[in-house]
Amino acid sequence: MFNYASVIAVLLVVSTACAFPTRSGSQVKHIWGETTRGAPLAGAPAQCPNSDPQTQQVTRLRQLANRIAQSNGDTFQGALDMSQMCIGVNAAWSNIDARTQPEVKTVMFSPSMLMIAQNDDELAAVLSHELAHVTLQHAGFGEAPPRASLDPDFADAQARASALQSEIAKLAKMGGRDKEIFALSEQFAQLQKSMNERIDAIYGEKNAHLSWFEQEADEVGAEFFVKAGFKKEFYLSMLWRSSTASVEDYQKCQKLIEAALQQPGSAARPERGNKVHPTTCWRAFHLKVDEWSHAHASEIGTLGSR
Ligand SMILES: [Zn+2]
Repeated sequence: MFNYASVIAVLLVVSTACAFPTRSGSQVKHIWGETTRGAPLAGAPAQCPNSDPQTQQVTRLRQLANRIAQSNGDTFQGALDMSQMCIGVNAAWSNIDARTQPEVKTVMFSPSMLMIAQNDDELAAVLSHELAHVTLQHAGFGEAPPRASLDPDFADAQARASALQSEIAKLAKMGGRDKEIFALSEQFAQLQKSMNERIDAIYGEKNAHLSWFEQEADEVGAEFFVKAGFKKEFYLSMLWRSSTASVEDYQKCQKLIEAALQQPGSAARPERGNKVHPTTCWRAFHLKVDEWSHAHASEIGTLGSR
């Protein structure tokens, strides 16, 4: 989970009309070891709003965070050293929740998220995912998923959108330029639409532009998680535990996953959904089938034999 206010404001303006086959595999898998993006965030968090750094819950989270960081030393160093991050618990949150503010390297849990985790592995699953949002600096508007930034059409549209945004901001400051602002906003929306369609095409899946952040946080978070020696099955059990899916949803999904493992490539894929988080079944399927059984089976195998 992640604060997407700025992303949603921009991206929900449009929805794509393109249809993609649901059988195709996700064409984008993260590159093992590529766990950061952009210039490192300088400086420690301005404030760590922990109620009390000495509480048992915070101590437990920090211990897990240190284990993840030590096993992923290439990532968690310098500006991303664990001493530079805030890992805390917000006692005022009543929902099952964990939130990240990548710009201030802060990850906050609700007390109930800690309570539903059945063991350290399950808690580390959520923590790894949130830490991936920090290391990947998921900041919202202006970001492109890994392959889109290499796509000339996408890069061109992104540069033009960014220029338009500056122009709109300039006109807004002047005042009384509503007509021009309206016209430029229309152009901006068109560009955004074409960028979103490009992302969906690159990922080979409808609505990928809505949830590629969360896909990437799962992929990179799961890499942190397995490198720290946590058990993969608990990443999946925590996904289900923190979701609102029914037992039937779960059982149906297990069948899809089993079929895909038995007949790679020809089995049906679950729906990605049209939310900021892909559906729980999509996330479980993507990790277990795409990431762990295909894309990164050999890297994970090497870890197992150490
Ligand atoms: Zn997330």
